Amino acid sequence: MSQRIDLEQLCADRGLRITEQRRVIARVLSESEDHPDVEQLHQRASAIDPKISIATVYRTVRLFEEAGILDRHDFGDGRARYEAAPEAHHDHLIDVESGKVVEFVDPELEALQKVIAERLGYRLVDHRMELYGVKLDRGDKAD
Ligand SMILES: [Zn+2]
Repeated sequence: MSQRIDLEQLCADRGLRITEQRRVIARVLSESEDHPDVEQLHQRASAIDPKISIATVYRTVRLFEEAGILDRHDFGDGRARYEAAPEAHHDHLIDVESGKVVEFVDPELEALQKVIAERLGYRLVDHRMELYGVKLDRGDKAD
């Protein structure tokens, strides 16, 4: 959610070599409250250091992702979006008109997913849940 995750510290913990450009990209990711794609990351990082190329951003997000400190999402528009791997799990609702991403946690939903997996003979170890919606008008509330 919007608790700030210190990617720089996570890199250090994982023994990743941290160059100055990687540090800038890590900081931009840590400070992003949304789920930016590579182009948005590149815009933000090159505002700090104009020498950072989009290729460097691509390489760095791949490296961070492989190290397990960055989550990649596909919210249905074909663009990979990134967020610092959250300490506490959350799911996403995507507004298909504006592209806005809303984060949520629902204990009942979490429990139900475990039950479904067990019913199918599995112990749940991970899941991904994305809801896609259009904003309700005040006049046409579902309930
Ligand atoms: Zn998120």
